[in-house]
Amino acid sequence: MKQVVIIGCSAAGVSAAAAMRATDPAAHITMVSDERTAGYRRMCLGNLLVKSKRLKDCLIEPPDFFDRLGITLALGSTVEKINPRRREVALTDKTKFPFDVCIVAGGRDAVFPRELRGAQKQGVFTFRSIAALAALEQLIPISSTACVWGAGIAGLTAAACLRQRGLEVKLITARQQLLPEFLDLAAAELLRRVLESRGIEILFEMDIREVIGESDVKAVRLNSGKVIGCELLVVDAFNAARARFLSDTDIAVTEQGIAVDQFLQTSNPAIFAAGDCVDSAGEADTPPEKRYVWARATAQGRAAGANAALFLSGGAMQPWPAAYAAEKTCDLFDYLLSLRWRTPEEMPVPAETKIYFDEAAGIFHKRTIGNGAACAEVYIGPAADWGSPTAPGNEAAGARGGRFASADDFAGGAQ
Ligand SMILES: Cc1cc2nc3c(=O)[nH]c(=O)nc-3n(C[C@H](O)[C@H](O)[C@H](O)COP(=O)(O)OP(=O)(O)OC[C@H]3O[C@@H](n4cnc5c(N)ncnc54)[C@H](O)[C@@H]3O)c2cc1C
Repeated sequence: MKQVVIIGCSAAGVSAAAAMRATDPAAHITMVSDERTAGYRRMCLGNLLVKSKRLKDCLIEPPDFFDRLGITLALGSTVEKINPRRREVALTDKTKFPFDVCIVAGGRDAVFPRELRGAQKQGVFTFRSIAALAALEQLIPISSTACVWGAGIAGLTAAACLRQRGLEVKLITARQQLLPEFLDLAAAELLRRVLESRGIEILFEMDIREVIGESDVKAVRLNSGKVIGCELLVVDAFNAARARFLSDTDIAVTEQGIAVDQFLQTSNPAIFAAGDCVDSAGEADTPPEKRYVWARATAQGRAAGANAALFLSGGAMQPWPAAYAAEKTCDLFDYLLSLRWRTPEEMPVPAETKIYFDEAAGIFHKRTIGNGAACAEVYIGPAADWGSPTAPGNEAAGARGGRFASADDFAGGAQ
């Protein structure tokens, strides 16, 4: 029986396992994750913090999925090394899993820049896992001030959630405006006003140089020299592929991640990689903010799983399609930020862009339509209006039925 080891049990890992099983009913599949929960949507983390969802609502698959597919789970287990010559995955507890094929789907993690002093203090958190959230949750009830460093989707979500939990929040970003990869200046200004009116102070063009305090966070020092008092610091300003376990191998890892070809195969033919940890050929023009998304991770996971099975059987592998419709959303109090776009490969030549902007009502809705289908969309506005076909911003932007009826409505228009 062929042995398959998948490292990571999230978007890419779970879809790789499903595709592998669909192509090879007999292989023995082991999934290793250092998390204790198998496969949950990271975009739910904010909902968990403000308690608007429970963990069971955030699972990618129902709890019996892994049993049904005959998959062995090794949760709470950290991969320390891969030995490509012996075809073996070694855990930190010295357990070893032999493999005929291995799929690496370890994602990315927030990293602290080397020049940041004091990052090890109690009260410094990332915002990327249930474990990080649980640690943050311990301190929220006894804290009243927080800084969030990084204003991507994770940073914005963290800031909004901490504010909703009653903390005084400052959002610190090196950028000149919010989400420049996605938002026109007018939309970015609206978003800034929404956040500031809900009590989040935003400091633009700033970085943190030092976390101040004995053992606990007491303040942060910015690059300007200014010191801001805070008891909690959430950092999501920089991230990197989790691929340290490949460091003793000759598998190429670039600054962006594990180098793979169009089949998602690394420089070692028995080792594939997929998802946020991957630097895949042909994506150099896609900025990180648009590249590391759920839809790409699942599309790559599916392709890597199927190709790994074909590699085992000697079949002809297929290139990953590199075309997907992505969506990033962020619940901001009673407001919603929704960003949707197709990858360039899927994007028809845009025929028309419709913008509805009502500054007084606080609505920005921009929709780009090509070949009769939506190919990009930005919505900032009341969450309640987003589903309504008659809300002015939706009608004027030409959104059929307000919100896209489903992800397929968005994706289905590809020509
Ligand atoms: C707060 C937040 C909000 C987001 N919102 C959106 C959104 O709205 N839309 C969107 O498209 N994307 C969003 N994303 C990004 C999206 O979640 C990622 O693109 C997606 O999770 C990538 O999936 P992945 O399987 O590649 O990696 P991950 O989801 O990062 O999973 C990798 C897994 O591998 C495990 N692992 C890593 N190294 C090891 C090791 N050595 N041993 C064992 N296990 C290991 C990790 O612990 C993790 O469980 C958001 C992310 C965050 C953090």
